[in-house]
Amino acid sequence: MKLVILGGSGAGKSTQAQRLCRYFDISLISTGETLREAMSKENALDGYSELSDLGRYTQPYVETGELVPDEMMIELIRVHLTKFDVNSSWVLEGYPRTAFQAEELDFLLDDLGQKLDWAIYLQVPAAVMVSRSLGRLPPALRSAQSLPDDQPEIVQRRVELFYDRTVPILEYYDRRRRLLTINGDQSPELVQQNILTLLSIP
Ligand code: AMP
Repeated sequence: MKLVILGGSGAGKSTQAQRLCRYFDISLISTGETLREAMSKENALDGYSELSDLGRYTQPYVETGELVPDEMMIELIRVHLTKFDVNSSWVLEGYPRTAFQAEELDFLLDDLGQKLDWAIYLQVPAAVMVSRSLGRLPPALRSAQSLPDDQPEIVQRRVELFYDRTVPILEYYDRRRRLLTINGDQSPELVQQNILTLLSIP
């Protein structure tokens, strides 16, 4: 099974991606996590490596809540996905974020002889995105990590970018009959249960 998880800042993407990976015992690829790891390598002056190079380049984008340029993200995903064989199962979290990335993902999977099963969209109101990202809700309802880019104006920017750049992807997947929309404004347990039900898993 090959899945992508879509949703705005604080929609619960990372929590649900981790839950699904545990449930199915499959691999998780998180672009936000990969970028944060690359940045921490850079900050730790971990010596010269491809990862710290990546961190040096992407840090200004991540820290201001802007999107890292498509070319760089597409290359990052190519490196990750070519490690998997045709039959492997994975959940991709944080990617695609733009219509261009979504198209490129399909091209890449075609090249690799792989096919995406579903794009799972965690739908939550903008106000919930903002309050969860700012950590105002109880811990059980927050997204899994606390990010260095969680200050109010940066959260606002991330939400804005979600509507401008990521929402058009929903139509892309919907037209291809690959979109599953889930109400993300409920407990993590219920969200997971709804995802499994839509995937027709008892
Ligand atoms: P996330 O943890 O998924 O919210 O990602 C944190 C930050 O990493 C985002 O605010 C972007 O700066 C960057 N990022 C992660 N994934 C992508 C992507 N697919 N395209 C562009 N930027 C990304």
